[in-house]
Amino acid sequence: MPKKQAPRPHRRDVLRALLAASAGSVIAGTLGSSVINQSAQAASTQPLPTLSVLPSGNLQIIESINQDAAYYAQGFQFHLQKLPKFRYLCRSHAHVEQAFADIQARGLRFAVRSGGHCFAGHSQSDSAVIDLRELNHIEFDGDGIHVRVGAGVQLVDLHLEAAQRNLVVAAGWCPSVGVGGHCLGGGVGYAARAYGLLCDQLVSAQVIDGMGNALTASSSENPDLFWALKGGGGSIALVSEFTFVLAPIAPSPQQATSFELAVKLPFEQAVEFFAQWQTWAHQTDPRLTSQCNVIPYPGKNVFFVINGQMLAGAADFLAQFKTFPLGIAHLEPSKVFIGSLRAILEEHILKDPGHYFPTKYQSAFCAAPMESSACRVLLGQLTDLPLGSVNLMFEALGGAAATPTIDDTAYPHRDAAFLVQLASSITEKQDSTAAHAALASMQQALRPFVTGGAYVNYRDPDLRDFAQAYWGDNYPRLQAVKAKYDPQNMFRHAQSIALP
Ligand SMILES: Cc1cc2nc3c(=O)[nH]c(=O)nc-3n(C[C@H](O)[C@H](O)[C@H](O)COP(=O)(O)OP(=O)(O)OC[C@H]3O[C@@H](n4cnc5c(N)ncnc54)[C@H](O)[C@@H]3O)c2cc1C
Repeated sequence: MPKKQAPRPHRRDVLRALLAASAGSVIAGTLGSSVINQSAQAASTQPLPTLSVLPSGNLQIIESINQDAAYYAQGFQFHLQKLPKFRYLCRSHAHVEQAFADIQARGLRFAVRSGGHCFAGHSQSDSAVIDLRELNHIEFDGDGIHVRVGAGVQLVDLHLEAAQRNLVVAAGWCPSVGVGGHCLGGGVGYAARAYGLLCDQLVSAQVIDGMGNALTASSSENPDLFWALKGGGGSIALVSEFTFVLAPIAPSPQQATSFELAVKLPFEQAVEFFAQWQTWAHQTDPRLTSQCNVIPYPGKNVFFVINGQMLAGAADFLAQFKTFPLGIAHLEPSKVFIGSLRAILEEHILKDPGHYFPTKYQSAFCAAPMESSACRVLLGQLTDLPLGSVNLMFEALGGAAATPTIDDTAYPHRDAAFLVQLASSITEKQDSTAAHAALASMQQALRPFVTGGAYVNYRDPDLRDFAQAYWGDNYPRLQAVKAKYDPQNMFRHAQSIALP
């Protein structure tokens, strides 16, 4: 029986440390936390600072000359950071209306920021920013499952508040991602196969449209806009507050399980293992969602880190895990944590120290698990690249994420089996041109096995036909909604929805 483990380094630290270390040297022996933390520290900046408490009440405008301006400009991709002339720090829906009116009166270009985690920096502007980070209320309705959430709430806070009530938020696990951008792009996490995406839990939103009107969007009010908010990626209207209906964990309300399996395999075994994981992850009980991080390792080896969560206790988890084909080697999860969902979230989320490298991200979707022959092509290309150039993350979809039809929400990738994230760190050894070339070669290798789609929440500023890739056949409908609610194209950036 797996036992509760001692505190451990967060998986992203492991991956980033591996990437950083493998870019320059071979990682010796153990993955002990001190080694990992040293590596991560050496190649990262400090985590985003906590904001100081500001006087509440009025809408606050931080001008670029203000000494705090640079502090507030920080976002996840710090190399894409801009210093806006005016930052409108909103603490209420009324502040957002005021900010929008002021920006219109001054004729300014602007960006909207919730959590500031856009991979392409679309919440940055050197003109004006409507900053929603302090719209951070979480208020449960009397029925206990509907929750009103300010756009600036960070995922960690929503997850923990919900888990406290034995409810599941079908969202990603990065603690500091904002609900605003995350939900508007879809929102994929460890409950995806059980409960779908965060946008599938959305029941209504308070918005300001491109003409400054305050509206409600729901299935009964402005349903066309409501549809567009579920995966359209923003750029039609600004959402100040989301209402979600959360899912009670069933049928064993007190227990959830998270696990991690880390293994380094020589190439041929790696090919078989990767193919087998894909088949298993796609077919397993939908209460279990897992992802597989694929990292090239010296000597044409491949290092895999599989993480997952099952919304069930030990017995159900072990029954599923036993169906993992173990033909290659006797593998067991290296870490298993069983407990209340809240305890699991604390184990995973609150230990995240948040070290970030400037990184280029791309994405793809696989329609089905890849055959061994396809895995051989993919891993062959990955291990042929200079060590540390690219790592891959395959996130299992299917289950509830595949229940809606392709046009039920603006997010169209319902028939995909896996979301693939490709990441290439920009380091001293690899500039952004080299990172781009490495990613392009991986995309080339992936091409026969993917749908051609890309995930709008993994924005890639270099993606050529981004509208088709992000939204497919839903794009003309999104454009029609844009024309109705934002006819002057107020909400625009390099990859915004274009007017028809
Ligand atoms: C470390 C990290 C981990 C991640 N993990 C996951 C994951 O597990 N699953 C997943 O699906 N995604 C994940 N993402 C991607 C993340 O979901 C997207 O980057 C998301 O758009 C970030 O939202 P934000 O509010 O933090 O970002 P922001 O940069 O504030 O916003 C992103 C975009 O949405 C727009 N926007 C933001 N708020 C609003 C609003 N209220 N109204 C209108 N437009 C708005 C912005 O203008 C911008 O274009 C991750 C990203 C990072 C950096």
